[in-house]
Amino acid sequence: MTRHDAVEVITAKRDGRVLSDSQIDWVVAAYTRGEVAHEQMSALAMAILLNGMGRHEIARWTAAMIASGDRLDLSGLGRPTADKHSTGGVGDKITLPLAPLVAACGVAVPQLAGRGLGHTGGTLDKLESIPGWRAELSPREFRRQLGEVGAVICAAGDRLVPADKKLYALRDVTATVEAIPLLASSIMSKKIAGGAGALVLDVKVGSGAFLQELDRGRELARTMVELGTDAGVETVALVTDMATPLGFTAGNAIEVAESVEVLAGGGPADVVELTLTLAREMLARAGMTEVDPADRLADGSAMDVWRRMIRAQGGDPGAALPTARESYVATSPQSGVLTRLDARAVGVAAWRLGAGREQLGQPVQSGAGVVWHARPGDRVDHGQPLFTLLSDDPSRFDRALEALNTGWEVGDGVDHVPSPLIHERIEA
Ligand code: URA
Repeated sequence: MTRHDAVEVITAKRDGRVLSDSQIDWVVAAYTRGEVAHEQMSALAMAILLNGMGRHEIARWTAAMIASGDRLDLSGLGRPTADKHSTGGVGDKITLPLAPLVAACGVAVPQLAGRGLGHTGGTLDKLESIPGWRAELSPREFRRQLGEVGAVICAAGDRLVPADKKLYALRDVTATVEAIPLLASSIMSKKIAGGAGALVLDVKVGSGAFLQELDRGRELARTMVELGTDAGVETVALVTDMATPLGFTAGNAIEVAESVEVLAGGGPADVVELTLTLAREMLARAGMTEVDPADRLADGSAMDVWRRMIRAQGGDPGAALPTARESYVATSPQSGVLTRLDARAVGVAAWRLGAGREQLGQPVQSGAGVVWHARPGDRVDHGQPLFTLLSDDPSRFDRALEALNTGWEVGDGVDHVPSPLIHERIEA
């Protein structure tokens, strides 16, 4: 690999020039090895945020990130594979019913998931509320479960894009998380290295999402679809609403319970709709169009795969889920129509109740979270419960209510226009 000088690479991007393949390969590898200093990568990340990158540069940067670790090869599995990634939202438990549902339709789902940080929840934190369930699998266990059960949701190992672990932590403290080339390459390097043949991206927009504006979400979605397509992965993106939280729960155990309702054929209409839409996209990308996932929810086969998936990772799918020690019910001060329920306010409230963490490595409370009893457009009566707050620690209720109370309105509802769940679909 040609050696470069970090200052020369930073200067090129600072002055708005296109980085060469060789500069990109070197700077990503040298930073991962510790030969480029954090302050130099910080300056480069800021130059990328300010001056952007072209399609080829982003693809090369992503390939250099993938080359920093191992790439899984799932080709010997004997059935197609499809993965899904959500950019993260409040009440976004979709992966939980989606993975077993798609597996029940004949497409294997290898999901390398993360833990939550900040107001958006992490899939592993939710699953860890199931007694006995473990997130860490060896590569052998991962492959065996994928073959035998068809669905795995587990922690990404240390060898999956180590460059991203360093770069993500750096971006977090240098206000460069939002740079679209860095966001897209961070997400897509891990998804491409994860080895699935098809990928469906759920790009969230709205107050509870990383990127709040539709334009920015669309740009991120397009960039990621291009990256996946260029890497030979069948990729499509849906840009979906995160102005309102999904379903009726935000937390860990309470989101597992809501996901199980969906697998049992019930559950909130928006969670069911998004799960089925994403399942159909995954199946179509994997070349499986003859099966309707709605049938697999109705006939119980998705629930069977869920039980096997949880058991394979040491969990007891029949065990009672943990509950919070304390609860507080907030009621509506007037009668009318719930006209606004803000995803960020709900997410921050759930986080303050103990469902999320402030620093990496902190434990979360399995039973903590927020249940809302109405969704925008629903009629509510004076005195009717609007929210139930759940926590092991009642001293957290006041701060959670402070966040929550900025995030809802009850009015006459005459001007209420429901916002669409799915804004756009973007493919190559
Ligand atoms: N998720 C990722 O994996 N990377 C980012 O940069 C942001 C969210």
